[in-house]
Amino acid sequence: MILNIGCPYPNSLHEKDGSILFLVKGAREKKLVVVGEGSEIFQELEGRRGSVDGVWIKVCDLSVANSRVIRKHFPHTCPVSLRKFKTTIGLGDRLGVASPGHIDLIKNYDVGPVLAQQSVRELTLTGRTFEGVLSDAVWAVFQEGYRGGFGADGDHLKTADEVKLALDVGYTMITLDCSEHINNVTTLSKDDVDRIYMELDKETRERLEMRFLSGEFKLESGLRLMFSPESLRLNAVIYQKAVDFTVDIFHKVIKPCQREIDFEMSIDETVTPTDPLGHFFVALQLMEAGVDLYSVAPRFCGEFQKGIDYIGDLSQFHRELKAHQEIASHFGYKLSVHSGSDKFSVFPIMGEETKGRVHVKTAGTNWLEAVRVIIQADPGLYRELHAFALEHLDEAKRYYHVTLDTGRIPDLRGLKDEDLGGLMDHSDARQLIHITYGLILQEKDESGAYRFRDRIYRCLYENEGLYREFLKRHIGNHLKALGL
Ligand SMILES: [Zn+2]
Repeated sequence: MILNIGCPYPNSLHEKDGSILFLVKGAREKKLVVVGEGSEIFQELEGRRGSVDGVWIKVCDLSVANSRVIRKHFPHTCPVSLRKFKTTIGLGDRLGVASPGHIDLIKNYDVGPVLAQQSVRELTLTGRTFEGVLSDAVWAVFQEGYRGGFGADGDHLKTADEVKLALDVGYTMITLDCSEHINNVTTLSKDDVDRIYMELDKETRERLEMRFLSGEFKLESGLRLMFSPESLRLNAVIYQKAVDFTVDIFHKVIKPCQREIDFEMSIDETVTPTDPLGHFFVALQLMEAGVDLYSVAPRFCGEFQKGIDYIGDLSQFHRELKAHQEIASHFGYKLSVHSGSDKFSVFPIMGEETKGRVHVKTAGTNWLEAVRVIIQADPGLYRELHAFALEHLDEAKRYYHVTLDTGRIPDLRGLKDEDLGGLMDHSDARQLIHITYGLILQEKDESGAYRFRDRIYRCLYENEGLYREFLKRHIGNHLKALGL
């Protein structure tokens, strides 16, 4: 047994039934060390056994199987519902190495972190699994000795099977993506709307007309909402299938799992902005059907593009957000703001209107901070990534809606290494790198070896402290802008 297995992470020291456990940073990867063989946990963890001065130790990989053993013996490493927190933040970690920095930041704030948060799209693009993503978060929690509680969000799930998959491996938040059940009416005439409305079954139509057309709705905040026969038909055409789908998933999959699940309905990924009347139409029905909602993600006016600030009319946004918030507090759930990365101009409005009772999701911005580390530590690698991203941009645009103009990105041949960092403050360059992450991570050379992936992970491993500092600063700016 080699004694020199690496440098311990001081906060990772844990004790269980007489065994001592801690993480070490080896030359190439982190390991879990268990000292003292008498315990059940020593037996259950898979690893290399050896003795040092007569004491048995085991050196284990940070594998998914071992993370299950850790979760079994240390309940604070299991994800939980975050309902006790007023403010919660989704911290999607595409590479699985950002959580230590996130934990280091949020432990100083009264905010509930969702450390594991990936959509099926992101899992496909990064070649990861729900349980693998959770496992990475569990190891980070163990490493940092964090006991504040964290969530795990199966993000943008579209089918009952996807929801079951995430619940089966222990996820505590489910974001149901209803986009495929929403009718985008921007191209429909009034006659089309009437025709599609009549395709709903009679019972549904009668129920809706009884419920929504018998008078004005007045909320405690003073907000008044009134449906006309036309606006009812329009909202039914847009949202009724999404409502039915959500009720069905809740009663068939979420409720039977018998755990407290933070259940979110998302209607954000569509071209039809959610106006307050549409929001109320959806929410009232979900509530009356017994759906226990944690949050709703409307499609706000303007554009929430990935990795850059809000595009749109701030005063219209403010007005509509206020009404959305009044509806959310009327029913007792939170608004959820997706693509919350870098939306610095709208955070103060959100903080003020929601009084901090809000869920904000970020993801891509954590990858961009990783890229900032690469630029500083290995500018040659960044130059390769940048050239590759430009070449493959059209493929990436199939997955993400962005308005970037590559003509505005400076030519790298004219930039010195020390000036490359500025690219991560440039909207077009940010979006270029933001949306090509999947292609970058999956690209292989002729021999079948990853072209960039291993070098990216290596660079971040060797510059762990720098990545932690960048994340603390950047996500910290998000929290401050929200007024926390
Ligand atoms: Zn979304």
